[in-house]
Amino acid sequence: MRGVILCHRPLRLLLIEDEPDHAALIRRHLAGANDSQVTMEWVDRLAAGLARLEQGGIDAVLLDLRLPDSDTPQTLPRVVSQMPHVPIVVLTAFDDMDLAMQEARQGAQDYLVKSEITGALLLRSVRYAMERMQSQTALQRYAAELERSNQELDQFAHVVSHDLKAPLSVINCACEILQRKYADHQTPESAELLAHSGAAAQRMGALIDDLLQYASVGGRHNPFDTTACDAALDEALANLQPQIAASGATVTRDALPTVVGDKAQLAELFQNLIGNAIKYRSDAPPLIHISAQRTTNEWLFCVRDNGIGIEPQQADRVFVLFQRLATSQIPGTGIGLAVCKKIVQRHGGRIWVESAGQTGSTFYFTIPPQLPSVS
Ligand code: ADP
Repeated sequence: MRGVILCHRPLRLLLIEDEPDHAALIRRHLAGANDSQVTMEWVDRLAAGLARLEQGGIDAVLLDLRLPDSDTPQTLPRVVSQMPHVPIVVLTAFDDMDLAMQEARQGAQDYLVKSEITGALLLRSVRYAMERMQSQTALQRYAAELERSNQELDQFAHVVSHDLKAPLSVINCACEILQRKYADHQTPESAELLAHSGAAAQRMGALIDDLLQYASVGGRHNPFDTTACDAALDEALANLQPQIAASGATVTRDALPTVVGDKAQLAELFQNLIGNAIKYRSDAPPLIHISAQRTTNEWLFCVRDNGIGIEPQQADRVFVLFQRLATSQIPGTGIGLAVCKKIVQRHGGRIWVESAGQTGSTFYFTIPPQLPSVS
């Protein structure tokens, strides 16, 4: 459909090229293509080209990077920054793939080697550049819209959670006072009702705290930095010290790598996984081991426990928000592993669990060795 529109619409090209001979040659090639729908204007300076683009009506630019009034490396960025939505075909003297890639990164949609130009090639390249620009623009629009709605959602969750906490703490307080001060005036029925209300308010408080934690993974924008995972694990273990001591857990660890990431979130990730390993323990004292190994193109981390295990058919469910397994009698909100998944995904990795049930679980997650493009 897009191709049909482009074929039938008159095309107006702008050639920015300082060599009159080259300009004449390109004009001849274009005439040879015999397409009356295509017209071309020519300017020999960048300033004149930018001024012409400002007037509008140009569908695509044929751009020589070496111009008398522009440093070669600056030519393309200058056109792109002034006219970000005009498709550009760079005209180059060299058939150099690296150069082509570099130009594509700077914003050109295609490139042509001058000595190889024919009329048909020129038109094909221009139409391809226009289609590419259309898709790029649509993609940028969707990405911006997605980013905006994600931020809105995070902000919404944050505000709602905060606003829920205030009235909840009033309810909590009232239950406590009623239980403490009026203990002698309660009937067994009212005492039970009060105890239920207090417990429900506390569960709701835990839910709100976990939801806040979930919302803040996307909303918080700590820049990624070189992060020693050993230090992130130290932080998690220090926070878990009371649970480790109370359960008699033994935590062992291998040396962990340094990655590019958000240290606070990596600590949160370890803390959630190790906290669960303690929480979902079997009758045996918890044994937890943390390790990492380098695979071909990522770091593979592993948190292994000897707890109650997870049935293999439930392995994907546990990462879904609010999903708790029927087998677990232990209180919780079903948010911790969804937080883990969000953190790992923000770092460009994957997370999953393997368990044969009853013999313990092994949680795996990956982190790419380089910086993901979006943090
Ligand atoms: P919560 O612990 O608050 O329920 P999570 O999202 O952390 O929420 O975990 C989801 C469910 O996955 C838990 O309810 C539990 O059934 C199961 N689970 C998580 N970690 C483990 C583990 N290490 N061993 C066994 N089951 C686990």
